[in-house]
Amino acid sequence: MRYTSLGSGSRGNATLVVEQDKALLIDCGFSRKVLFSRLEMAGLDVRQLDGIFVTHEHGDHARGVVSVCEALNIPFYASFGTARAMQWLEHPLWRCIASDEVVSAGALAVMPVVVPHDAEEPLQFVVENAAGSRLGVLSDLGSLTAHIVSAYQGCHALQLEANHDPDMLRSGPYPPSLQARVAGNFGHLSNQQCAELIYRLQWDGLRYVTAGHISEKNNARALVSQALCGVLGCAPGDVRLLEQDQISDWLQL
Ligand SMILES: [Zn+2]
Ligand SMILES: [Zn+2]
Repeated sequence: MRYTSLGSGSRGNATLVVEQDKALLIDCGFSRKVLFSRLEMAGLDVRQLDGIFVTHEHGDHARGVVSVCEALNIPFYASFGTARAMQWLEHPLWRCIASDEVVSAGALAVMPVVVPHDAEEPLQFVVENAAGSRLGVLSDLGSLTAHIVSAYQGCHALQLEANHDPDMLRSGPYPPSLQARVAGNFGHLSNQQCAELIYRLQWDGLRYVTAGHISEKNNARALVSQALCGVLGCAPGDVRLLEQDQISDWLQL
């Protein structure tokens, strides 16, 4: 299994996971045009794409889903709540998924995990191949739950949200109501919460950790690196951070 981020942040998210000659996307918060150009940059033929797993209805995750799936005639997988919020319930390409029920997609098994976020029925995903390699993708959650910590145990790679620095959020440009939403239990993970999660998920088999969904207004990349390098046991410059407008390096499990 190999994977890459095609972009991560409040203006759009998409993670590409490839096993053998088939590929899945987790989220498509980009227009079809942007997504296809980033797939090309990643060296993937769009015909390899087998489906899109959608975490929740926010535009930075769901914007391009229907347009891409209709163009390629491939299914998209989302919870009932997400589908209802997106008015997808009658769409012939929608497949309903539920927390803790593993979905087979090509050679990959995808386990949806329920998370606390201000959306109708948000899910995040653990992807596993036949050899037992596990990738955990987790963003858009306001707090850590025992269920999340248990569901993401044993991952060989983690792509986690490090959204904001609490001090920058407090002194930043967001109005108080939006600050409260972002910092709240159904908002987004801070750098410190991300570090805590890594600490709780660390094991000998963990090979890669990347941090994404980094706020452009309420965070600084140096602060993310600083918060994570201690727990990762590496130099700040070696912490892997995702970009909004660039694809990341491929990582192979
Ligand atoms: Zn988001
Ligand atoms: Zn969201």
